[in-house]
Amino acid sequence: MNEEFSECEKCGKPINYGNAYVTIERNIEQAEFDLISYQEEIQIIDSVEVITLCGKCGNAFDTDMLKRLIKSIPFSNNRPSDN
Ligand SMILES: [Zn+2]
Repeated sequence: MNEEFSECEKCGKPINYGNAYVTIERNIEQAEFDLISYQEEIQIIDSVEVITLCGKCGNAFDTDMLKRLIKSIPFSNNRPSDN
């Protein structure tokens, strides 16, 4: 199917159904350990998509740089929006 599903937020290229693409998301997750199946289960409680990229832009994406950027962001409990 060649119909457009979304578009790349970096280069604007259409992302069609059937194309591989990359998303960066902010998830709230809860991990459990199932004693019957003896496997870890992770439930996604909430998910917010941060960015969608086409395969080319996604493959060029530097995840180590993103980790460093996120760790450099100060987390404050005093933001006006939290009051
Ligand atoms: Zn792109």
